[in-house]
Amino acid sequence: MLLHMLHAQVLGQPAHDNALLITATSGQSHTKLLLDCGENVLAGLPLSEIADIDHLLFSHFHMDHVSGFDAFFRINFERTNRENHLWGPPGSIAVLGHRLQGYWWNLTADLSAVWHVHEIDGDTVSSARFEAQGGFAVAHDAGTRRLDGGPLIGTPEVQVQALALSHHGVSLGYVLREPRRWAVDKAALHRLVLNAGPWLAQLKNGASGRLDVNGTLLDADTLRADLLRSVPGESLAYLSDFLLDESELARLSALLAGVGTLYTEAQYAPGDVDRASRNHHTTVLQVAQLARLSGAERLRLLHLSRRYTAQDWAEWLEAARAVFPATGYPAHWFEGTLD
Ligand SMILES: [Zn+2]
Ligand SMILES: [Zn+2]
Repeated sequence: MLLHMLHAQVLGQPAHDNALLITATSGQSHTKLLLDCGENVLAGLPLSEIADIDHLLFSHFHMDHVSGFDAFFRINFERTNRENHLWGPPGSIAVLGHRLQGYWWNLTADLSAVWHVHEIDGDTVSSARFEAQGGFAVAHDAGTRRLDGGPLIGTPEVQVQALALSHHGVSLGYVLREPRRWAVDKAALHRLVLNAGPWLAQLKNGASGRLDVNGTLLDADTLRADLLRSVPGESLAYLSDFLLDESELARLSALLAGVGTLYTEAQYAPGDVDRASRNHHTTVLQVAQLARLSGAERLRLLHLSRRYTAQDWAEWLEAARAVFPATGYPAHWFEGTLD
């Protein structure tokens, strides 16, 4: 049976830069994605894990979200055993092109790595190809495609969608969803007086014709209609650095409806609404409200500011939980004391 899983790891420390590392697994294969890459976020990760990242997606290019790019690129710049993809908001080809070019590239004759940089502007994705041979000097036009409501990235393990957020221009949030999966209707199984067995996995995997159900041959299509229900897989969303006024709250909560884990910034104290909106950021209560209106399963608070203290963060947690009870900081922060 295919075992789907969406595993997310928060990188970085409270009051320092953060990122989210996601491994989407189908049991047979996986896709690894890194969302943002601030300073030191990769510290402590095994090199093999960094070398395994398929896609690096940036929310935007303020320094605290891109300062760790050197550490990522140093390990992967000559990688040819998989495709290399970088994603971000409008302007990504220029900004990331400069970063790729920003070294002495005088030993590149034997390199054959290719890097694809994609910039997302609403429903349109423009791409450029940069070649290690020649020092990434040219942004080769790799065309433009329209998403037409389809995913930005679609693999057997995960589908990625970008959300345009407002933050001194466009910052991107990302929503990751596993494919829908089959669940067994236990009551129907009981009603039909059938026992579970390997045949259920065969049914989920698309068996057709006569199926051996613990020694009895039954029609697979009929069993599927009677017993299997299509249910959404796991999902998560990552939203960092964004304005959350009334209209954004309504728009985003609709787009995030039913999401599993919502990871958001927690830049400002509950009372700092004016300062937060002036700086195109959110307060901790605004994101708790977003989680509540979206019907999210849980909220995890990241991107804390060093303007505040651990005591403040403890108080915020209490205030946020009054709005949305399933709120917490990443489990490994504060040694669990605030989680
Ligand atoms: Zn920012
Ligand atoms: Zn930031």
